[in-house]
Amino acid sequence: MSATLPFTEKTSFYLNLEEKYGAHNYHPLPVVLKRGKGVLVWDVDDKQYFDFLSGYSAVNQGHCHPKIVSALLSQAQQLTLTSRAFYNNRLGEYEQFITQFFGYDKVLPVNTGVEAVETGLKLCRRWGYKVKGIPENKAKIIVCANNFHGRTLAVISFSTDPASSKQFGPYTPGFEIIPYNDLEALAGALEDKNVAGFLVEPIQGEAGVVIPDEGYLKKSKQLCEQNNVLFIADEIQTGLCRTGALLCCDHENVKPDILLLGKALSGGVLPVSAVLANDDIMLTIQPGEHGSTFGGNPLACSVAIAALSVLKEEKMSENASQMGKLLRSELENIHSPYIQTVRGKGLLNAIVIQHPREDAAWQLCLALRENGLLAKPTHGDKIRLAPPLVITEAQIKESAAIIAYSIAAAL
Ligand code: PLP
Repeated sequence: MSATLPFTEKTSFYLNLEEKYGAHNYHPLPVVLKRGKGVLVWDVDDKQYFDFLSGYSAVNQGHCHPKIVSALLSQAQQLTLTSRAFYNNRLGEYEQFITQFFGYDKVLPVNTGVEAVETGLKLCRRWGYKVKGIPENKAKIIVCANNFHGRTLAVISFSTDPASSKQFGPYTPGFEIIPYNDLEALAGALEDKNVAGFLVEPIQGEAGVVIPDEGYLKKSKQLCEQNNVLFIADEIQTGLCRTGALLCCDHENVKPDILLLGKALSGGVLPVSAVLANDDIMLTIQPGEHGSTFGGNPLACSVAIAALSVLKEEKMSENASQMGKLLRSELENIHSPYIQTVRGKGLLNAIVIQHPREDAAWQLCLALRENGLLAKPTHGDKIRLAPPLVITEAQIKESAAIIAYSIAAAL
């Protein structure tokens, strides 16, 4: 691990614990956090930082939002889990709330993002057989190159990132990979009558905030409709006000046939995810055919209602849109030869670093950490800048200043 400064004794203690006892499946920035409030987090030495990752967009509502935490605490004292063997008094209420919130007939509650993706894929295949009439075991789902939908075996089977998939085979069949933002490729792939669905991220977050051309989502949806194929939007990272609209698909007035949500559905308080669809799709799965012990638990239901309410009450879409514009304009004013691009929508942004040093983006993130801002490179040269949506104008300006002098110092 390389760093610009030696670590404090406390930081080293925690880094060493994780190094020794934890699996080495992550490479975190060397900072040990112990507290968060809104846009800010503090490390074990009480140093304060702006959080520009927001738990990979799970903490859209800001750290430890009082209304969400209060929902968690009060429900935790009543009932936390029944399993779906019994009814509970929060699930139906949550189902009504979330379906009305997003305008769908039904919701299938699960826990993590990838579980929502897996559920969406199963639902799509089931619809393909039961409704579309695809011959058994022939259903195909189209996905995009450079996708990121999570880490399960089925999902990494259609990853194009060798780090995600290498030596984890054999892979699950039934997926066709086409280039992202390529309508011709989609039209070609849709000619196969066994295609049941098209799974897409409205913006590719992990790939480095790759934004498709305007109209891509709308035209993709139209192509899917023309071919009787389900349009499945993975809004796990882009949804819930992150891009300046409730859903990123809303920017193009596109309503997905299957909507996948996760992350900020709990405001980062606990894993909560969901699959939304209308009856003609959702009711193709019947009792005993899919489930999860924790899916739809009363604690998750209470937290998710609070997390969604807060997004609306505090107008987080509007703030994300305005603060995103301000952030990009401040970043564009930095005029460093080492910033190749600034891009983003709402508060899902990235800068692409161009520098002869291969680890320049990592070094810059270490300098940002020293200067009080936390961000992490993705795919080498890209740094995602995605603070909680409660960030203020003054905080954006202060953060942009930190980024400017960190670039000057580190690169
Ligand atoms: N889909 C997208 C677009 C994501 O960004 C992620 C996580 O980053 C996932 C799915 C997987 O979510 P989880 O890590 O909660 O399984």
